[in-house]
Amino acid sequence: MPDSLAATQQAVKRSRETWFGKIAKLFNQVRVENEVWDELEELLIAADVGVATTQKLIENVKQRVRTEKITEPAQVRSALEEGMVSLLTVESAAAAVSNSVGLYAILVVGVNGSGKTTSIAKLAYNLKNEGKKVILAAADTFRAAAIDQLKRWGERIGVEVVAHQPGGDPGAVVYDAIQAAQNRGAQVVIIDTAGRLHTKFNLMEELKKVKRVVSKHELPQEVLLVIDATTGQNGLAQARHFTEAVGVNEIFLAKLDGTARGGIVLSICDELKIPIKYIGIGEQLGDVAPFDANTFVTAVFRN
Ligand code: GDP
Ligand code: MG
Repeated sequence: MPDSLAATQQAVKRSRETWFGKIAKLFNQVRVENEVWDELEELLIAADVGVATTQKLIENVKQRVRTEKITEPAQVRSALEEGMVSLLTVESAAAAVSNSVGLYAILVVGVNGSGKTTSIAKLAYNLKNEGKKVILAAADTFRAAAIDQLKRWGERIGVEVVAHQPGGDPGAVVYDAIQAAQNRGAQVVIIDTAGRLHTKFNLMEELKKVKRVVSKHELPQEVLLVIDATTGQNGLAQARHFTEAVGVNEIFLAKLDGTARGGIVLSICDELKIPIKYIGIGEQLGDVAPFDANTFVTAVFRN
Protein backbone atom coordinates (compact mmCIF):
# COMPACT_ATOMS: atom_id res chain seq x y z
CA MET A 1 0.00 0.00 0.00
CA PRO A 2 1.18 3.58 -0.60
CA ASP A 3 3.04 5.65 1.98
CA SER A 4 0.48 6.18 4.65
CA LEU A 5 1.15 9.85 5.52
CA ALA A 6 1.27 11.14 1.93
CA ALA A 7 -1.83 9.14 1.01
CA THR A 8 -3.74 10.30 4.08
CA GLN A 9 -2.74 13.92 3.46
CA GLN A 10 -4.09 13.62 -0.06
CA ALA A 11 -7.32 12.03 1.20
CA VAL A 12 -8.01 14.67 3.85
CA LYS A 13 -6.98 17.65 1.73
CA ARG A 14 -10.48 19.10 1.67
CA SER A 15 -10.96 18.54 5.39
CA ARG A 16 -7.61 20.17 6.16
CA GLU A 17 -8.32 23.16 3.94
CA THR A 18 -11.66 23.80 5.63
CA TRP A 19 -12.69 22.75 9.14
CA PHE A 20 -9.45 21.41 10.53
CA GLY A 21 -7.51 24.34 9.08
CA LYS A 22 -9.86 26.65 10.96
CA ILE A 23 -9.36 24.67 14.14
CA ALA A 24 -5.59 24.98 13.79
CA LYS A 25 -6.01 28.76 13.38
CA LEU A 26 -7.93 28.98 16.65
CA PHE A 27 -4.71 28.13 18.42
CA ASN A 28 -2.52 30.56 16.52
CA GLN A 29 -3.46 33.31 18.95
CA VAL A 30 -1.33 34.63 21.80
CA ARG A 31 -3.63 33.38 24.52
CA VAL A 32 -6.57 31.07 24.94
CA GLU A 33 -9.74 33.14 25.18
CA ASN A 34 -12.95 31.72 26.59
CA GLU A 35 -14.68 31.91 23.20
CA VAL A 36 -12.25 29.34 21.89
CA TRP A 37 -14.28 26.47 23.32
CA ASP A 38 -17.51 27.49 21.63
CA GLU A 39 -15.74 28.04 18.34
CA LEU A 40 -13.94 24.72 18.66
CA GLU A 41 -17.25 22.98 19.33
CA GLU A 42 -18.85 24.53 16.26
CA LEU A 43 -15.95 23.62 14.01
CA LEU A 44 -15.75 20.03 15.24
CA ILE A 45 -19.46 19.55 14.68
CA ALA A 46 -19.18 21.16 11.23
CA ALA A 47 -16.39 18.66 10.49
CA ASP A 48 -18.87 15.85 11.27
CA VAL A 49 -17.26 14.77 14.54
CA GLY A 50 -20.78 14.39 15.95
CA VAL A 51 -22.24 16.13 18.99
CA ALA A 52 -21.50 13.46 21.60
CA THR A 53 -17.93 12.85 20.47
CA THR A 54 -17.26 16.59 20.19
CA GLN A 55 -18.37 17.15 23.76
CA LYS A 56 -16.32 14.24 25.02
CA LEU A 57 -13.25 15.54 23.21
CA ILE A 58 -13.63 19.12 24.46
CA GLU A 59 -14.28 17.97 28.02
CA ASN A 60 -11.11 15.92 27.90
CA VAL A 61 -9.05 18.91 26.69
CA LYS A 62 -10.57 21.29 29.24
CA GLN A 63 -9.82 18.80 31.99
CA ARG A 64 -6.17 18.68 30.98
CA VAL A 65 -6.03 22.48 30.75
CA ARG A 66 -7.26 22.64 34.35
CA THR A 67 -5.21 19.88 35.92
CA GLU A 68 -1.98 20.61 34.02
CA LYS A 69 -2.49 24.39 34.27
CA ILE A 70 -1.97 24.77 30.53
CA THR A 71 -1.92 28.36 29.28
CA GLU A 72 -0.12 28.27 25.91
CA PRO A 73 -2.44 27.89 22.88
CA ALA A 74 0.05 25.51 21.28
CA GLN A 75 -0.17 23.25 24.33
CA VAL A 76 -3.96 23.27 24.17
CA ARG A 77 -3.75 22.26 20.55
CA SER A 78 -1.38 19.42 21.46
CA ALA A 79 -3.85 18.28 24.10
CA LEU A 80 -6.59 18.33 21.46
CA GLU A 81 -4.46 16.33 19.05
CA GLU A 82 -3.63 13.79 21.74
CA GLY A 83 -7.32 13.52 22.63
CA MET A 84 -8.10 12.86 18.98
CA VAL A 85 -5.42 10.18 18.69
CA SER A 86 -6.72 8.46 21.78
CA LEU A 87 -10.31 8.42 20.46
CA LEU A 88 -9.06 7.04 17.15
CA THR A 89 -7.01 4.28 18.73
CA VAL A 90 -9.29 1.25 18.83
CA GLU A 91 -7.81 -2.21 19.35
CA SER A 92 -8.47 -4.65 16.54
CA ALA A 93 -10.11 -7.93 17.45
CA ALA A 94 -9.32 -9.52 14.10
CA ALA A 95 -6.28 -11.67 13.36
CA ALA A 96 -3.92 -10.07 10.85
CA VAL A 97 -3.72 -11.59 7.38
CA SER A 98 0.08 -11.70 7.61
CA ASN A 99 -0.06 -13.90 10.74
CA SER A 100 -2.67 -16.24 9.37
CA VAL A 101 -1.73 -19.89 8.86
CA GLY A 102 -4.73 -21.38 7.06
CA LEU A 103 -7.19 -19.75 4.72
CA TYR A 104 -8.00 -16.14 5.60
CA ALA A 105 -11.52 -14.93 4.80
CA ILE A 106 -12.81 -11.38 4.61
CA LEU A 107 -16.58 -10.98 4.55
CA VAL A 108 -17.34 -7.53 3.14
CA VAL A 109 -20.65 -5.88 4.02
CA GLY A 110 -22.23 -2.44 3.64
CA VAL A 111 -25.05 -0.58 1.93
CA ASN A 112 -25.34 -0.36 -1.83
CA GLY A 113 -22.99 2.15 -3.36
CA SER A 114 -20.82 2.47 -0.25
CA GLY A 115 -17.81 1.20 -2.20
CA LYS A 116 -17.68 -2.51 -1.36
CA THR A 117 -16.78 -3.92 -4.75
CA THR A 118 -14.19 -1.23 -5.50
CA SER A 119 -12.63 -1.65 -2.06
CA ILE A 120 -12.47 -5.43 -2.51
CA ALA A 121 -10.63 -4.90 -5.79
CA LYS A 122 -8.12 -2.61 -4.03
CA LEU A 123 -7.49 -5.15 -1.28
CA ALA A 124 -7.14 -8.02 -3.75
CA TYR A 125 -4.71 -5.95 -5.82
CA ASN A 126 -2.55 -5.19 -2.78
CA LEU A 127 -2.61 -8.75 -1.48
CA LYS A 128 -1.68 -10.07 -4.91
CA ASN A 129 1.22 -7.63 -5.07
CA GLU A 130 2.36 -9.00 -1.72
CA GLY A 131 2.51 -12.42 -3.35
CA LYS A 132 -0.70 -13.86 -1.92
CA LYS A 133 -3.11 -16.00 -3.91
CA VAL A 134 -6.56 -14.43 -3.64
CA ILE A 135 -10.02 -15.66 -4.66
CA LEU A 136 -13.05 -13.38 -4.87
CA ALA A 137 -16.59 -14.56 -4.19
CA ALA A 138 -19.38 -12.78 -6.07
CA ALA A 139 -22.04 -13.23 -3.39
CA ASP A 140 -23.93 -10.08 -4.39
CA THR A 141 -26.06 -12.26 -6.64
CA PHE A 142 -29.07 -9.98 -6.68
CA ARG A 143 -27.90 -7.81 -9.53
CA ALA A 144 -26.26 -9.16 -12.68
CA ALA A 145 -24.26 -5.92 -12.92
CA ALA A 146 -22.72 -6.55 -9.52
CA ILE A 147 -21.38 -9.93 -10.59
CA ASP A 148 -20.02 -8.49 -13.84
CA GLN A 149 -18.35 -5.61 -12.01
CA LEU A 150 -16.45 -7.98 -9.72
CA LYS A 151 -15.51 -10.22 -12.67
CA ARG A 152 -14.08 -7.23 -14.54
CA TRP A 153 -11.94 -6.27 -11.56
CA GLY A 154 -10.84 -9.89 -11.23
CA GLU A 155 -9.70 -9.97 -14.86
CA ARG A 156 -7.84 -6.68 -14.50
CA ILE A 157 -6.03 -7.75 -11.34
CA GLY A 158 -5.55 -11.35 -12.41
CA VAL A 159 -7.41 -13.06 -9.59
CA GLU A 160 -10.06 -15.74 -9.88
CA VAL A 161 -13.69 -14.79 -9.25
CA VAL A 162 -16.13 -17.50 -8.18
CA ALA A 163 -19.61 -16.55 -9.42
CA HIS A 164 -22.97 -18.15 -10.08
CA GLN A 165 -25.94 -16.99 -12.12
CA PRO A 166 -27.71 -13.75 -11.11
CA GLY A 167 -30.43 -14.51 -8.59
CA GLY A 168 -28.54 -17.53 -7.23
CA ASP A 169 -28.04 -18.37 -3.56
CA PRO A 170 -25.23 -16.22 -2.11
CA GLY A 171 -24.46 -18.93 0.45
CA ALA A 172 -23.77 -21.41 -2.34
CA VAL A 173 -21.34 -18.98 -3.99
CA VAL A 174 -19.46 -18.58 -0.74
CA TYR A 175 -19.36 -22.34 -0.20
CA ASP A 176 -17.89 -22.84 -3.69
CA ALA A 177 -15.40 -20.01 -3.25
CA ILE A 178 -14.04 -21.48 -0.02
CA GLN A 179 -13.86 -24.91 -1.67
CA ALA A 180 -12.01 -23.40 -4.63
CA ALA A 181 -9.62 -21.53 -2.33
CA GLN A 182 -8.80 -24.73 -0.47
CA ASN A 183 -8.36 -26.76 -3.67
CA ARG A 184 -6.08 -24.18 -5.29
CA GLY A 185 -4.10 -23.39 -2.16
CA ALA A 186 -5.24 -19.76 -2.03
CA GLN A 187 -4.40 -17.79 1.12
CA VAL A 188 -7.23 -15.28 1.03
CA VAL A 189 -10.88 -15.31 0.00
CA ILE A 190 -12.75 -12.00 -0.14
CA ILE A 191 -16.54 -12.15 -0.22
CA ASP A 192 -18.61 -9.43 -1.89
CA THR A 193 -22.20 -9.18 -0.64
CA ALA A 194 -25.41 -7.35 -1.50
CA GLY A 195 -26.22 -4.03 0.12
CA ARG A 196 -29.86 -3.90 -0.81
CA LEU A 197 -32.19 -6.74 -1.73
CA HIS A 198 -35.42 -7.35 -3.47
CA THR A 199 -38.29 -6.53 -1.11
CA LYS A 200 -39.13 -10.16 -0.46
CA PHE A 201 -35.68 -10.73 1.03
CA ASN A 202 -34.42 -9.28 4.27
CA LEU A 203 -30.89 -8.01 3.81
CA MET A 204 -29.68 -8.72 7.33
CA GLU A 205 -31.15 -12.24 7.32
CA GLU A 206 -29.41 -12.99 4.03
CA LEU A 207 -26.12 -11.68 5.39
CA LYS A 208 -26.47 -13.79 8.52
CA LYS A 209 -27.01 -16.84 6.30
CA VAL A 210 -23.89 -16.03 4.31
CA LYS A 211 -21.95 -15.61 7.53
CA ARG A 212 -23.17 -18.98 8.80
CA VAL A 213 -21.82 -20.68 5.67
CA VAL A 214 -18.43 -19.05 6.24
CA SER A 215 -18.52 -19.86 9.95
CA LYS A 216 -18.79 -23.58 9.23
CA HIS A 217 -15.15 -23.32 8.11
CA GLU A 218 -14.22 -21.41 11.27
CA LEU A 219 -13.94 -18.30 9.19
CA PRO A 220 -14.04 -15.33 8.58
CA GLN A 221 -11.26 -13.62 10.46
CA GLU A 222 -12.54 -10.29 9.21
CA VAL A 223 -16.06 -8.95 8.85
CA LEU A 224 -15.24 -5.74 7.08
CA LEU A 225 -17.88 -3.01 6.96
CA VAL A 226 -17.49 -0.51 4.13
CA ILE A 227 -18.75 2.95 5.07
CA ASP A 228 -19.05 5.80 2.57
CA ALA A 229 -17.37 8.77 4.29
CA THR A 230 -19.49 11.22 2.31
CA THR A 231 -22.67 9.96 3.95
CA GLY A 232 -21.53 11.20 7.36
CA GLN A 233 -23.72 10.61 10.40
CA ASN A 234 -26.27 8.84 8.21
CA GLY A 235 -23.67 6.25 7.21
CA LEU A 236 -22.86 5.80 10.87
CA ALA A 237 -26.50 5.03 11.68
CA GLN A 238 -26.58 2.42 8.90
CA ALA A 239 -23.35 0.95 10.19
CA ARG A 240 -25.03 0.08 13.49
CA HIS A 241 -27.50 -2.23 11.73
CA PHE A 242 -24.64 -4.19 10.21
CA THR A 243 -22.65 -4.40 13.43
CA GLU A 244 -25.71 -5.77 15.22
CA ALA A 245 -26.49 -8.32 12.51
CA VAL A 246 -23.11 -9.74 11.52
CA GLY A 247 -20.58 -8.69 14.16
CA VAL A 248 -18.34 -6.34 12.21
CA ASN A 249 -14.73 -6.25 13.46
CA GLU A 250 -13.06 -3.89 10.97
CA ILE A 251 -14.07 -0.85 8.95
CA PHE A 252 -13.04 0.24 5.46
CA LEU A 253 -13.86 3.94 5.21
CA ALA A 254 -14.30 4.55 1.48
CA LYS A 255 -14.37 7.93 -0.30
CA LEU A 256 -12.55 9.89 2.40
CA ASP A 257 -11.19 11.91 -0.53
CA GLY A 258 -14.75 12.92 -1.42
CA THR A 259 -15.58 14.84 1.73
CA ALA A 260 -14.46 17.94 3.62
CA ARG A 261 -16.07 16.47 6.73
CA GLY A 262 -13.35 13.98 7.60
CA GLY A 263 -14.17 14.34 11.30
CA ILE A 264 -16.53 11.42 10.70
CA VAL A 265 -13.59 9.13 11.53
CA LEU A 266 -13.71 10.33 15.16
CA SER A 267 -17.43 9.69 15.35
CA ILE A 268 -17.06 6.21 13.88
CA CYS A 269 -14.27 5.13 16.23
CA ASP A 270 -15.87 6.65 19.31
CA GLU A 271 -19.40 5.41 18.72
CA LEU A 272 -18.85 2.02 17.12
CA LYS A 273 -15.62 1.15 18.96
CA ILE A 274 -14.56 -0.76 15.86
CA PRO A 275 -11.19 0.09 14.30
CA ILE A 276 -10.96 1.70 10.88
CA LYS A 277 -8.47 -0.51 9.09
CA TYR A 278 -8.32 1.12 5.66
CA ILE A 279 -9.28 4.38 4.01
CA GLY A 280 -10.36 4.70 0.41
CA ILE A 281 -8.77 7.69 -1.27
CA GLY A 282 -9.97 7.47 -4.89
CA GLU A 283 -11.44 5.17 -7.50
CA GLN A 284 -8.26 3.46 -8.73
CA LEU A 285 -6.76 0.18 -7.53
CA GLY A 286 -3.91 1.91 -5.72
CA ASP A 287 -6.21 4.36 -3.95
CA VAL A 288 -6.20 2.76 -0.52
CA ALA A 289 -4.12 3.32 2.61
CA PRO A 290 -3.98 1.75 6.03
CA PHE A 291 -5.64 3.93 8.64
CA ASP A 292 -3.48 5.09 11.51
CA ALA A 293 -4.60 7.40 14.31
CA ASN A 294 -1.39 9.45 14.56
CA THR A 295 -1.07 9.72 10.80
CA PHE A 296 -4.63 10.92 10.46
CA VAL A 297 -4.28 13.63 13.10
CA THR A 298 -0.99 14.81 11.60
CA ALA A 299 -2.46 14.83 8.09
CA VAL A 300 -5.56 16.75 9.00
CA PHE A 301 -3.61 19.60 10.60
CA ARG A 302 -0.38 19.79 8.58
CA ASN A 303 0.48 20.03 4.88
P1 GDP B 1 -20.87 -1.10 -3.78
O1 GDP B 1 -22.26 -0.95 -4.30
O2 GDP B 1 -20.83 -1.00 -2.29
O3 GDP B 1 -20.20 -2.33 -4.27
O4 GDP B 1 -20.03 0.16 -4.32
P2 GDP B 1 -19.03 0.27 -5.57
O5 GDP B 1 -17.75 -0.41 -5.27
O6 GDP B 1 -19.73 -0.14 -6.80
O7 GDP B 1 -18.71 1.83 -5.57
C1 GDP B 1 -19.69 2.84 -5.77
C2 GDP B 1 -19.00 4.07 -6.37
O8 GDP B 1 -18.09 4.64 -5.41
C3 GDP B 1 -18.18 3.77 -7.61
O9 GDP B 1 -18.40 4.79 -8.55
C4 GDP B 1 -16.73 3.80 -7.10
O10 GDP B 1 -15.82 4.16 -8.09
C5 GDP B 1 -16.82 4.85 -6.01
N1 GDP B 1 -15.77 4.70 -4.98
C6 GDP B 1 -15.50 3.61 -4.24
N2 GDP B 1 -14.49 3.85 -3.37
C7 GDP B 1 -14.11 5.14 -3.55
C8 GDP B 1 -13.11 6.00 -2.93
O11 GDP B 1 -12.37 5.63 -2.01
N3 GDP B 1 -13.04 7.28 -3.40
C9 GDP B 1 -13.85 7.73 -4.40
N4 GDP B 1 -13.70 9.01 -4.78
N5 GDP B 1 -14.78 6.96 -4.99
C10 GDP B 1 -14.91 5.68 -4.59
MG1 MG C 1 -20.96 -3.91 -5.33
